[in-house]
Formats: sequence, C-alpha cells, structure tokens
Amino acid sequence: MEFLQQLGIEAENKGVSTGSSWFTGTGVKIDSYSPVDGTLIGSVFSAGATDYEAMMAQAGEAFKEWRMWPAPKRGEIVRQFGEALRVYKEPLGKLVSYEMGKSLQEGLGEVQEMIDICDFALGLSRQLYGLTMHSERPLHRMYEQWHPLGIVGIISAFNFPVAVWSWNTALAWVCGNVCVWKPSEKTPLCGIACQKIIAEVFAKNNVPEGVSCLIQGDRTVGELLSNDTRIPLVSATGSTRMGKALAAAVAARLGRSILELGGNNAIIISQHADLDMSLIGAAFGAVGTAGQRCTTTRRLIIHESVYDVFKAKLVNAYQQLSIGDPLDSKNHVGPLIDKDAVKMYLQSIEDCKAQGGHFVVEGGVLEGEGYQSGCYVKPCIAEVTNDLPVVQHETFAPILYLIKYKAIEEAIELQNGVPQGLSSAIMTVNMREAEQFLSQAGSDCGIANVNIGTSGAEIGGAFGGEKETGGGRESGSDAWKAYMRRQTNTINYSTKLPLAQGIQFNL
Ligand code: NAD
Repeated sequence: MEFLQQLGIEAENKGVSTGSSWFTGTGVKIDSYSPVDGTLIGSVFSAGATDYEAMMAQAGEAFKEWRMWPAPKRGEIVRQFGEALRVYKEPLGKLVSYEMGKSLQEGLGEVQEMIDICDFALGLSRQLYGLTMHSERPLHRMYEQWHPLGIVGIISAFNFPVAVWSWNTALAWVCGNVCVWKPSEKTPLCGIACQKIIAEVFAKNNVPEGVSCLIQGDRTVGELLSNDTRIPLVSATGSTRMGKALAAAVAARLGRSILELGGNNAIIISQHADLDMSLIGAAFGAVGTAGQRCTTTRRLIIHESVYDVFKAKLVNAYQQLSIGDPLDSKNHVGPLIDKDAVKMYLQSIEDCKAQGGHFVVEGGVLEGEGYQSGCYVKPCIAEVTNDLPVVQHETFAPILYLIKYKAIEEAIELQNGVPQGLSSAIMTVNMREAEQFLSQAGSDCGIANVNIGTSGAEIGGAFGGEKETGGGRESGSDAWKAYMRRQTNTINYSTKLPLAQGIQFNL
C-alpha cells in the first residue's frame, strides 16, 4: 500500500523514539491488524525498562534546552509541523482510516484537526499571558508568569489515534514542555507515522533530541508514565476505568493529570425542533465512526408529541445506511476496532433486552464478502428507560437508545441522569427552552450545543467533560494553562522592606 511507504511504515517498526533516534523496544512485539479487512499492517515493539530509562534521560536533557527557546520560536516549529501535516494529509488520513476503521473523510478530518491546532498553537505562542496586580505595598510590583512544567506524558485512545496527541503536544510544546507519547496499542502505527513526520521537522531546525518521544505498549507501559515522578503532568484519554486507575496513581505522587474519559451523550429532541435537521444530527452522531467517538450520540430524549414521527424517520434513515469498507466513500459506517469490541456490542444488546429494552432496529454482526474481518456490525436502536444499567454505561458501539419525555425540566434531568458528563445537545427553535438548557440549571456537561448534535467539536473551544468524563480540558480557549505552572512574582524597588498585611518586625 502506497500510503504506508509514504509514511515510512515498515513490516517491523522500532518501538521507542526520542526524535530522529529510534531504539528497538526491548518489550514485547505488538501486531497491528486492520479492522477494515483483517490484514496484518505491521508490527511495533513495546518499551522495556532500559529503553524507557534512556528515553526519559534524553527527554530530561531536552527540556533544559527547549525551555530556553523563546515561545514564538517554538511556535515557528509547530507552524512547520502544520505545514508538514498538510503535505502528509492524504497518506496519514488513509492510515488512520485503515488502522482504526473510521471513514476516509473522518481520517482526513482528524489530520485537519491536527493542522488546525498547529495554527492555534502558533498564535498562542505569542499569547501566553499572565496578569499584573497592584501591590498593597509602596514601590512594589506584582505580576504572574507562566512557566513550562517539564516532561508531559500523553496516553491516547484508539479512536482518535492522531488528533488527541496533537491537541496535547502542539500546546505543550509552545508552552516549553517536552512530550512522551504512548499511543493506544490498537493503533501503534499511527504513532510511528506521526513521530516520523515531526522528526523530519525537528531535524531541519536542530530541535534537541527528546522534545518529542514515542513509546509503544499496553497499559503496563502507560503505568510507567503514571508512576514516574519525573513526569509532572499526564494527559490521558480513554475509558473511565483507565482514568480511575491512572488518576489514583498520579494523585498518589501528587502529580497532575488531564483526564478525557468516556461519554454518554444525549440529544434532547423538543416538540419545537426542526425534525429534518435533528435527524441528520442524531443519525450522524449515533452511527458516525461506528459509534466509537467519545461524543457519539448514545441517547435521544424525545418529546412525547413528536416521538412516533421522529422514531419512524430514524428507522427509515437506518434502513438507508450502507455498511462496509470505510475507505470507500459510499459507505456510512465502517467496522468496530476489533472482535473484543464486537463482543461488547453483542453483550450490551443482550443486556438491554434482558433489562426490558425493546429494539426497533435490530443489531447483529455482518458476515460474508467485504466483512471478513469480523468487525462490522449493524447500527441498532432500542426504546428504553434512562435508569436501565445498560443505558447508564458507555458501550463503544452504534447502539442508540430512545427515551420519551413530557416537560423540558424532565428532559434535562434525564440528560443529566448518567454518571458521565461530556457532550449534550438540544434541538429546538424555542429560545426559552434553549436558554434553560444552557443555564446553570441546565446541562451538566462540558459541552452543550443548540441545534447541532453531540458529536465532534472545533479545536477553538476547550474540550472535555465533567463527572466520570474526568474534568480535563484540552485544545482551545485557555486549556494551555494546564500545561504550565503559574508563578506569582513580587518585586520591591523601594529602600524599605514593608511586610504584607502591615506586620511590624523590628530588629
Ligand atoms: P482504554 O481506556 O482501553 O485505553 C486508552 C489508553 O489508556 C490506551 O493507550 C491504554 O493502553 C491506556 N491504559 C489503559 N489502562 C491504563 C492504566 N491503568 N494506566 C495507564 N494507561 C492505561 O480506551 P480505548 O478503548 O482505547 O478508547 C475508548 C475510550 O476512550 C472510550 O471510553 C471513549 O469515550 C474514550 N475517549 C474519550 C475522549 C475524550 O476526549 N473524553 C476522546 C477519545 C476517547
């Protein structure tokens, strides 16, 4: 496959990189199979103790140099990274699609997000602002400044195998940090491709070896990062189960974490909704990326007066869905990531039925020509109540739950009535209920939208969610502050030493 050659992906890829230098990982070999057709795409080697230590030493040295580069100069490197991504957009988008299984459009969209965050980070490199304050003491000046933290660990999930890394690194780098990335063991080749692209940019600019490090491996390698006191910040994206374990490990050593965990996102479809618009938002939100986005629409909370008519529209739309090779643009839905994900999907369907859910569009695994990987499933729809255990849980697959409501207050309560708090939306042209949904008595999620779905987000806003979603924020707005430490400075340019709060201390 040409795109693999263009990205420098080989049959066996060395495991650990500190930039231009690649070391063979001394840990186990990980094979990456495509969920699209079951082909073995390539293998990587996970990090072992010795290569991990060598990498950490190099990252520590690199930080000493990199933190002294002026932030706009670091921004210039990130700008060039964005340029390189423009050149590699097509092959990298194809690799994302082939290794992860999302549609080519979405694979290219992910690379576009990387380009966008590079543009954002470039601007940010001249805007790492601190405040100035008026001191209570005469001839004193007080201000705050932001310094880099050091080595930032990044642990990412399989479903956004490249964009999540760039949201973190682009900001962390302009802030003066160096990064160590552990991609998902399910999409390790995307990590190799990204590291090769950034290594080219770094080499051209004499960026110190170790500013971008890549290590491969499963949770045990992730645990090396979460337990390592040399890593002041770990940014982790993945399941709530992972987040709870990681947060405990990082907190035990009083480190910081940014947690981007599971969602259980709902759209409220009001009686004042434009139902045609709602249909696009709901269907794309539920079946896009085969239901494997953290912002996937998992629940529709529909007003009783439009419930039947909207359900009929949805069922009709699901009958038009074309499921198959995600690299073929005529298909709407690609595969799940692997057969374990298929098992979890089937288990949730069973659980839903056993708990009293009623399927209006049945699910199932597809077999035969084009479906040989065993990872293609049918998007399905069940009528449920919000309190079913299966509905309270995030199943990372295209299962959509329908819930009926009478009053907007009840709809908001249902929307909030799950442990997760990532993305939420209301479809309505009624200004009063839209504002109620956005108010402090409305949605409890990190993202709340009106007349667009739950799925997808722009890089300009801070991205993340509340409750079991973990509380972290990445990407735009002032999310950069999480990658820096704040220092308050007071300077006395008088000839006396007055103490704060008027305290007298005479010798
Ligand atoms: P996962 O939790 O299985 O793995 C995520 C990453 O964490 C992997 O790199 C894995 O190796 C690592 N890991 C697992 N346990 C660990 C531990 N104890 N310590 C350190 N590292 C550990 O998740 P996944 O199946 O790859 O991804 C799907 C999940 O990610 C879904 O729940 C989805 O909602 C979530 N997600 C959230 C966001 C967000 O921004 N909120 C974005 C994408 C995905």
